Amino acid sequence: MRKTIIAGNWKMNKTATETRDTLKELKELVDGVKDVEVVIGAPFTSLETAVKTVEGSIIKIAAQNIYPKESGAYTGEISPVMLKSIGVEYVILGHSERREYFKETDEFINEKVKSALKNGLRPILCIGESLEERETNKTDEVNSRQLEKGLAGITPEEAKNIVIAYEPIWAIGTGKTATPEMAESTHKEIRKVLAKLFGESVANEMTVQYGGSMNAKNAKELLEMDNIDGGLVGGASLEASTFIEVIKAGVKR
Ligand code: PEP
Repeated sequence: MRKTIIAGNWKMNKTATETRDTLKELKELVDGVKDVEVVIGAPFTSLETAVKTVEGSIIKIAAQNIYPKESGAYTGEISPVMLKSIGVEYVILGHSERREYFKETDEFINEKVKSALKNGLRPILCIGESLEERETNKTDEVNSRQLEKGLAGITPEEAKNIVIAYEPIWAIGTGKTATPEMAESTHKEIRKVLAKLFGESVANEMTVQYGGSMNAKNAKELLEMDNIDGGLVGGASLEASTFIEVIKAGVKR
């Protein structure tokens, strides 16, 4: 049985004080929630506060980026070792905003995935096609390429610690969601690629999340699909009272 993981991506939102307030509220709301892992991707400046605030709850903390070196002359960058040392457990990598605005390539993302794993962080690797690519029937080709390159050199054993987030770019922050059937069919193709890379049994163990305008209203029907094992949620994760509804939709999938 695959683990359901509902993760919030806060992007460049919330000061440390706002982080503490939101997570205090969320911590109370998730009390008693079972069978789902909850992850919050907070900004670097909030991570230490976030880790301390969620102590004793089911909530785990993610960073939203790393530099793929352990230390050294990389002014302004943050290493996986630094994150691990303060109790961060996950890292969101390959998000389409980083691919687009910071020109991150599949090869660079692959270095980050390897560096995260080597230093004990679980990568949430984001993949997904643009609107133009979907309209020209390139969705599966784009996802396969991003998976094959982003996961190059990863062993099946290591793959068990990786979460994949399928995020069609046209659905991120737009209010447009893939229909559950559309997302399910893409998730099935993604799992086929994972089976080719790591074998069927490992592919069946890997959590593949959907991301793109997932919210309290549409989460249930998406999460009911066989191959949708969780969500990566942007806007709807910022308020604890909304995010808890998405989390609850993941409980009984
Ligand atoms: C995201 O950026 O990972 C995301 C899914 O954002 P939203 O839910 O706001 O579309």
